[in-house]
Amino acid sequence: MFTALLLEESNNTTQASVQRLYQDSLTSGEVLVKVDYSSLNYKDAMAITGTGKIVRQWPMVPGIDFAGTVLTSEHSKHKAGDQVILTGWGVGEKYWGGMAEKAAAKGDWLTPMPCAMNTKRAMAIGTAGLTAMLSLMALERSGVTPAQGPILVTGATGGVGSVAVRLLANAGFEVHALTGRLQHSDWLRALGATEVIPRSEFDKEPAALASQKWAGAIDAVGGHTLAWVLSQIKMNGAVAACGLAGGMALNTTVMPFILRGVQLLGIDSVYASPATRVAAWQRLQNSLPLDFEDQTEVYTLAQTITAAHDLLAGKLKGRVLIKP
Ligand code: NDP
Repeated sequence: MFTALLLEESNNTTQASVQRLYQDSLTSGEVLVKVDYSSLNYKDAMAITGTGKIVRQWPMVPGIDFAGTVLTSEHSKHKAGDQVILTGWGVGEKYWGGMAEKAAAKGDWLTPMPCAMNTKRAMAIGTAGLTAMLSLMALERSGVTPAQGPILVTGATGGVGSVAVRLLANAGFEVHALTGRLQHSDWLRALGATEVIPRSEFDKEPAALASQKWAGAIDAVGGHTLAWVLSQIKMNGAVAACGLAGGMALNTTVMPFILRGVQLLGIDSVYASPATRVAAWQRLQNSLPLDFEDQTEVYTLAQTITAAHDLLAGKLKGRVLIKP
């Protein structure tokens, strides 16, 4: 048997509790993994609190990512004792996820642990950090360089945002951080932001075009914020759009695209190809401080329920690790 956080549906509400489960209830893969760490992402918080339609099958073990050690494998790429990382592929939504002592996964979903990485560091980075790296790589592919000007990160104190600030600063970019929580300004500056901008500056209706400020942006917020960001991107700049913490709707105009050549780059970490993941994880292992994982809060499965509510209420900052 193993211990897991289990989500059950009752009268259209989600009930979360820590339970002991039989190992044969793990049916979704060829590889059985002893989970060392999972992490708390926005999507996990939505699943645990029953916000939005994240869970596609009940009951569900949440946890869209995990890192651990292979116990048994029927897949040629992985053998017992290997350390592996899983993010996305519908795990924690359609298939049982990482907030458990054990998880089963298809072999093709697992990324081998890069040599300078360990399971704690991998999940301190987690889906949020992978998404931040995919966003940075997309900006670079689109031709954005540090010489072209500052990069804006929205939702900067969050999981994606805080890792994006660090990664961009490490890559030599001048980073501006947009946040609704100015009380964390010193922390954002310590991560590498040179300017901290209050979210309230974007409260008014977005203009079709405004003065050109940023060569690019990593946007974890979407909605009204993304419309504002697009209107202030410099000629031939780009925005990596990866999140919707501020809303799904995007009411904007074509002006930034047709008058300034701005590119809007969609980022999806869930179904990123295995080759893209390997490249991103290779780069992640050298792009963050050596003690990065030790700066991350570690929660138990039981504490995760409260933490999920706190994340959605904007009470957490940075990344949160889950130790089953
Ligand atoms: P977090 O909750 O950790 O961070 C979100 C941040 O957004 C908050 O910390 C806050 O930052 C800001 N924010 C929250 N609510 C609002 C609001 N109403 N208006 C404006 N800003 C707001 O979540 P994650 O970093 O884990 O995820 C961020 C987003 O990225 C989510 O929408 C998530 O679904 C998405 N995501 C997408 C992925 C992909 O593959 N495309 C993968 C992972 C995440 P502050 O207080 O600093 O303003």
